[in-house]
Parts: sequence; C-alpha cells; structure tokens
Amino acid sequence: MATLGIPANTIAVLQKYHFNFQKKFGQNFLIDTHVLEKIIDAAGVMKEDFVLEIGPGIGTMTQYLAEAAREVTAVEIDKNLIPILADTLSGYDNVAVINEDILKLDISKIAEEKNGGKPIKVVANLPYYITTPIIMGLFESHVPIDSITIMVQKEVADRMQEKPGSKEYGALSLAVQYYAKPEIVAVVPPNCFMPRPKVGSAVIRLTRHEQTPVQVDDEKLMFRIIRASFNQRRKTLANGLSNFPEIHLEKELIQQSIEELGLPVNVRGETLSLEQFAELSNILGKKIENKSNL
Ligand code: SAM
Repeated sequence: MATLGIPANTIAVLQKYHFNFQKKFGQNFLIDTHVLEKIIDAAGVMKEDFVLEIGPGIGTMTQYLAEAAREVTAVEIDKNLIPILADTLSGYDNVAVINEDILKLDISKIAEEKNGGKPIKVVANLPYYITTPIIMGLFESHVPIDSITIMVQKEVADRMQEKPGSKEYGALSLAVQYYAKPEIVAVVPPNCFMPRPKVGSAVIRLTRHEQTPVQVDDEKLMFRIIRASFNQRRKTLANGLSNFPEIHLEKELIQQSIEELGLPVNVRGETLSLEQFAELSNILGKKIENKSNL
C-alpha cells in the first residue's frame, strides 16, 4: 500500500537513510495524500497503462503509480536515492528504476521496449530548474506521448496556458499549445512539500493533440520565428525578425509578409496567435525558398 504521502512515514525514511536534500536537483518531496491522489486521477492512469515517472525522489508518487498502472519506469538522477527506492518500492513488481539524467535518456527507446511504441503517459513532480527543457525535449523529439501530467512552478503553469495579449504569453505558451492542450488541474501550496519550496506550484495536464491545430510547412522555421519575436519583446515583429541571426531575410521582405498576413507592419510579436505565427512562417518559408532558387 502507498504509505509515503503521510509526512511521518517520509520523515522516517529520510532519517533511516540519513538523506540530505540536494538543492541542485530541485528536491522537494510531496507529503500530501490528497495532492497525490489528485495527480493520479488527473493523469487518468489505467490498469493497462505504461507510465514514465521523472524524478521519483523516495518513491512517494511511484507507489501510487505502481498501484494504478500496469508498469512504471522511474528515472532518478540522484544515486543516493537508488537504495532508498529499492526499499520503498520493494512491495511492487511492476516498477523499474533507472539511475540517469532524464535529459540524456532515449525515451522513445523506453516507449518502444515497454509499450510497443504506443503513446505513453508521463507523470512527474518535476525539478523546477529543468521544467522547460524536459517538456520541450519530450515534444520535440517526437516521443510517442499520450499525456504529460506534471507539477511545475505555478507561474510556469500559467504561462503554458496564456493567450496573445497577456504579459506572460511567450514562446513556451506557443510551443506547448502547438503540441498539446494544457489544463491546470490543481494549485498546490508550499506546505504540501518537504522541504517547502519558495514558490507556489500547480499540476498541469498536457494532452497531446492527435493532429497539430495549425498547418505548418516547416516546424523548425516557425519556432525560430517565435523565438526571434519574443527574444526582443519590446521591438516590433519586423525588427525582431530582421535582427535575428537565424533568419536571413531583408526587412522589406519581412514587412511584406506581415502585410500579406493582414497585419500592420509595426505589429508586435506578442499579439500574434499560434495560427498567425504558422501562417507567417509559411509565407516566409516560401520567400526563403524563392530567394535560394534565384
Ligand atoms: N517525485 C518525488 C515526490 O513527488 O516527492 C520527488 C520530486 S522532486 C521535486 C524532483 C526529483 O527529480 C528529485 O528526486 C530529483 O533528484 C530528481 N531529478 C532532478 N533532476 C533530474 C534529472 N535531470 N533527471 C532525473 N531526475 C531528476
């Protein structure tokens, strides 16, 4: 039975192993059974599912996942946690622990081996210092993903959901919304963790789109344009794009493309929707092609 969500049990394990929290790994362990149940529920984990957990810590959520899923693979970077996990997960025969940095792991290979290449569910209370690279890595490397249900910093969860016009809208909002439908499913205060983080947290579920919501000829070019637009937030879109080294187009051509989109030439990037970025990227892509054919 899952036991570690109860604070006294977590403290007992930490004391037994004289465990020292490592700040550099973003270690804040969950000590709230309601939050744990909510995460499992929001992730929609079923008996037939394979689940990848990132950063199991002492195995608190892993116990819940092992009870709900067919099989769990948990990837933990901190070698000091491996003997602890062997102990706290000894009652489960459907969990594999890998001692590795998630950013260095071939997750497609795990999905292939453990789930026959079918879409997997990812569930994690993420180390906040690498939230964005983990999420973007999962999406951009085209790992077969069904959904990602993760605890992140509240502000970052908000940013993923934002729409054009808001101050927090940016490259992360667009990237997440291109690949998935984001929904915040719980707001979690610092006292649900040990030690308490300085920031508020939220659980967000990213359900992967079966088909991307916009048609883009060149995904990489669209994301380059998006990065360029938000890199220099206070500049107009045309200035931002013409100053960006990865986009080799004259300002006049960029301005023409913006006008073809039906937008004023002095528009700022932060007002464009995902659809408009996709359209702009398709227009610019054609101009780049024409230029290279000259
Ligand atoms: N899942 C546990 C819980 O909810 O109590 C622990 C969550 S804690 C916020 C994040 C965990 O991720 C830590 O155990 C940390 O050691 C681990 N971690 C940090 N960076 C990692 C990385 N690059 N790859 C794998 N695990 C990592």
